[in-house]
Amino acid sequence: MTAPLRVLVTGAAGQIGYSIVIRIADGTVFGKEQPVQLVLLDVPQCANVLEGVVFELQDCALPTLHSVEAVTEEKAAFTGIDYAFLVGAMPRREGMERKDLLAANVKIFKSQGKALAEYAKPTTKIIVVGNPANTNAFIAAKYAAGKIPAKNFSAMTRLDHNRALAQLALKTGTTIGDVKNVIIWGNHSGTQFPDVTHATVNKNGTETDAYSAVGDNAFLQGPFIATVQKRGGVIIEKRKLSSAMSAAKAACDHIHDWHFGTKAGQYVSMAVPSDGSYGIPQGLIFSFPVTIDGATREWKIVQGLNFDDFAKGKIAATTKELEEERDDALKACDDANI
Ligand code: NAD
Repeated sequence: MTAPLRVLVTGAAGQIGYSIVIRIADGTVFGKEQPVQLVLLDVPQCANVLEGVVFELQDCALPTLHSVEAVTEEKAAFTGIDYAFLVGAMPRREGMERKDLLAANVKIFKSQGKALAEYAKPTTKIIVVGNPANTNAFIAAKYAAGKIPAKNFSAMTRLDHNRALAQLALKTGTTIGDVKNVIIWGNHSGTQFPDVTHATVNKNGTETDAYSAVGDNAFLQGPFIATVQKRGGVIIEKRKLSSAMSAAKAACDHIHDWHFGTKAGQYVSMAVPSDGSYGIPQGLIFSFPVTIDGATREWKIVQGLNFDDFAKGKIAATTKELEEERDDALKACDDANI
């Protein structure tokens, strides 16, 4: 019998948590043959809500759900885990700037980085969803260093990636399966660069580059980018809550591909520690196009892509923002009590 995977979801009483746990429990993420031990962490004030989620998961009667437990302490949450979905954080509300969130979240991710180092397996793979996701992942990785390698830490830009795929499919009158290799560069924020220079679209059986398929460069360098960059804010404006269903689905796509590997000839966007590729400062958690080998579960940044001046400018802006966030976060870490 296959040994169960122990999978932690933090913020599991929240709205993304509610949409994510069913996908992990029902085999969508790790496969229908892979038993899963789910560990749900939230703050003690949410213990009752968490228990309700546990009851619902039990009531789903899922063959792949080996066990599910609700916890409100880091030791119980992080002990022996194989994968961590770090969702729990303070969500951005309407009109709130990302910088406002930084200080509060640094505290959470410093503590969870230390807990990962102390209690988790050295092979644990981590996706940070809670915003500001890239910088939270940077902080968690910093405090888990020595036990868990930085390459095991990632932040989610898959939602932005999926949004870019969807916008391109809508514009070209195709479906998601017809569009490949969009890229999100940089930060999961308004400075991210959704890039379709290397994307392809299969239109009526013929695969062409996205620029030819769309036939409207101004659209691709203007409204397309703005729509993807600002989609999170628009969802908040409409729902009065941040994206949850789509965010949960994207987190599951991200970990599914890390576990099973990417499809031949396709890459996905994932914020990972930079190795200096494309001149991005080493260690910055930056969204790159990656391919993943399903046998080793190692990601590789796609190399050799060319940038025009437009792309260079966009990448410089998002790099600058991430460097500033990193520096602010490091400063917050050094402050007393954090
Ligand atoms: P939510 O407020 O519904 O849920 C967050 C949950 O986290 C709450 O239950 C809260 O109690 C819990 N929490 C807070 N601090 C915690 C801690 N220290 N340990 C464990 N749990 C803790 O929020 P949500 O809508 O589920 O969003 C969660 C996060 O995901 C937010 O930061 C949001 O901005 C972010 N998000 C990221 C993306 C992305 O693409 N990267 C997309 C959407 C949302």
